[in-house]
Amino acid sequence: MTANINKLARKNIQTLNPYQSARRIGGQGDTWLNANESPISVSFKARIECFNRYPECQPNDLVSSYANYVGLSNSQILVTRGADEGIELLIKAFCKPGEDAIIYCPPTYDMYAINAKIADVAIKEIPTFKNTWQIDLFNINLNLEKVKLIYICNPNNPTGNIISKRDLKSLLKITLGRSLVVIDEAYIEFSPKNSMVNSLKEFPNLIILRTLSKAFALAGIRCGFTLATEEVINILNTVISPYPISTIVTDIAVQSLEKKAIEDMRNRVLTLNMNRIWLVDELKKISYVKKVFDSHANYILVKFYMFEKIFQSLWEKGIILRNQDHKNNLKNCLRISIGSNAECIHLVKELKNLSKI
Ligand SMILES: *Cc1c(COP(=O)(O)O)cnc(C)c1O
Repeated sequence: MTANINKLARKNIQTLNPYQSARRIGGQGDTWLNANESPISVSFKARIECFNRYPECQPNDLVSSYANYVGLSNSQILVTRGADEGIELLIKAFCKPGEDAIIYCPPTYDMYAINAKIADVAIKEIPTFKNTWQIDLFNINLNLEKVKLIYICNPNNPTGNIISKRDLKSLLKITLGRSLVVIDEAYIEFSPKNSMVNSLKEFPNLIILRTLSKAFALAGIRCGFTLATEEVINILNTVISPYPISTIVTDIAVQSLEKKAIEDMRNRVLTLNMNRIWLVDELKKISYVKKVFDSHANYILVKFYMFEKIFQSLWEKGIILRNQDHKNNLKNCLRISIGSNAECIHLVKELKNLSKI
């Protein structure tokens, strides 16, 4: 007897291609430069010892700590299981399946479209301009019908560029009263002056996503934040699960937002930004590097001659990069996360060896 369980799954799930996370793709590496994680680990010990009670839905200490870090009030903050949960909750709360739509601007982070597909919400793709990777305001404006959410990633993953603040403000003005603009600031600590946090008081349709996974070096604990007006946060609080943040996660996250830990984070960012500048310089000297795109985050997008061979050869040597060749306007491109000093040196050495063959 065959049960044919697959046929029971919703149609949009049967054909869904799940997110190809670095951990899912696998590989046998010792130099992981494919997930934009921090190469440096931070060390915290749990302070709490009792786990028999459920946690608060929104742990008050953690909300206060993050509010203090970003200069907002507690009522403007939602703690989530990574920024990824924020992306999902927004669609759940604001988009009606089969009726509403989201806009996203590829090449960018895949999870906006994947979450829309899972929810059976229509996706309007408005690609950014090739090579400048700025948003196409004109075409976004023409396509706003039924659009509840517009996802913009800033700095953009995987291109590394900053979206112009003027464009973002224009977008917020155009869409006021019609759609919400979600700015994913997962990498903003690497370029803090470009944050839109200060625009929250001006634009009630602005929503910002943040995470502890990148600059804070805590991808393993799964903790993120949604910043918005109190009204939006209240709506999200009606759809979030009752106990989304475990007691252990809150314990570690609160410690990571203490004064000294934030100083350490800022020093890590300085080191990684310096490593990036060094790596960009070195890559530009290598003959089969066609183009290195300017980056304001802890990764760089690089266009190669013979990208396939380079990707494979490095993979076999245990250096795992992220292939971007399949994405809009990113033919022959690889994304390289900025590693430790030793990892950057190792990568450049192997690339130089390859150019001798
Ligand atoms: C890594 C990343 C996220 C996911 O963050 P988590 O908090 O780990 O879920 C969200 N957005 C972008 C653009 C990312 O690169």
